Amino acid sequence: MQGTRLEVNLKALEHNFNYLKSQLDPGVLFMAVVKANAYGHGIIEISKKLQELGTDYFAVAYTEEAIELRDTGITKPILVLHPQSHTLVDCIQRCVEPVIYSVDMLDNILAFAKAESQKNYPIHLEFNTGLNRIGIELEEIDQVLELLSNTDAVKVRGVQSHLAASEDHDEREFTESQLDAFEKVTQQLEEKLGYKFLKHTDNTSGILNYKAGHHSMVRSGIGLYGYGNDLEHDKHLMPVGSLKSQVSQLREVKKGASISYNRSHKATTDMKIAVIALGHGDGINRIYGYGNAQVKINGSWAPTLGIICMDMFMVDVTDIDCKVGDEVIIFDEKHTARDLAENAGTISYELLTGIQKRVQREYIIS
Ligand SMILES: *Cc1c(COP(=O)(O)O)cnc(C)c1O
Repeated sequence: MQGTRLEVNLKALEHNFNYLKSQLDPGVLFMAVVKANAYGHGIIEISKKLQELGTDYFAVAYTEEAIELRDTGITKPILVLHPQSHTLVDCIQRCVEPVIYSVDMLDNILAFAKAESQKNYPIHLEFNTGLNRIGIELEEIDQVLELLSNTDAVKVRGVQSHLAASEDHDEREFTESQLDAFEKVTQQLEEKLGYKFLKHTDNTSGILNYKAGHHSMVRSGIGLYGYGNDLEHDKHLMPVGSLKSQVSQLREVKKGASISYNRSHKATTDMKIAVIALGHGDGINRIYGYGNAQVKINGSWAPTLGIICMDMFMVDVTDIDCKVGDEVIIFDEKHTARDLAENAGTISYELLTGIQKRVQREYIIS
């Protein structure tokens, strides 16, 4: 009998890595995005496997995540997508490459790099081409060039932008306008700086939908874990994580009785319910309550009943033959995280990254 666990299939990860690489021209570098605990799958094991498979680069969101990777023996270049200025000195000391997303931040990294006696310390610049999240404005290019022309403490290793709607086919024109703006700003930078650097814009949907955005490197997260934001793309990918639990208790409930907090489900007939050993404290948020999600028990669907509790939730098993200890599939390669998330009004990213630490990760290597 096994308890609540996230099974992580490293063979599926390998398949997805190879598939995504097969979409790139030779020479285009592959950056594996392993932020947020590798989208919930376990940053250490996933990154070790990806290093073994030959990823060219890693990306995380925060400096602390990069330090964790360095500490576990990741030697490949690591990009920090969203460093905070006070951590830039840690980036330098641990040899990780920060994305600089404002002129002020460029000023900061120059000061830190000089103080640490660096020469040509590799940095990446992010430009805002329409997402309006982090990024240097295109109009600020002269300030950027001015700061860079006065120093050799840092060197631009890469320039990036992030697409706002790479999965939305109705926004093609907008995405192409982002790619055009990126082309212009990188051309100008290359001319003025007098050297070449890596250029990267595409996330997973970008890789699959916008070949023009492959440039010299791509940044893939969700695709590695088996999802392509499009059922067509999903056919070629294999979900890496399967969330499983077990029936903790079965209970007969009489017509008219209520189930869960705030009496959130009222039994309209006599019924049989199962208590599942997983709750919002594990990352199964309250949005999955009230029948907004179904789990699989012995091949049949069991909908949630009422409010999801912190450590457990209840499902209707009136018509299901099951006993205490039986396996419960929350999601797997057939009943996917994408299905579960989208039926409840969210996305696979949120469901996967939300799976908490107390859920055991079990790595399947063959
Ligand atoms: C998270 C992130 C990615 C990865 O996106 P996916 O859609 O998961 O492939 C790429 N680039 C940036 C800047 C990100 O923040």
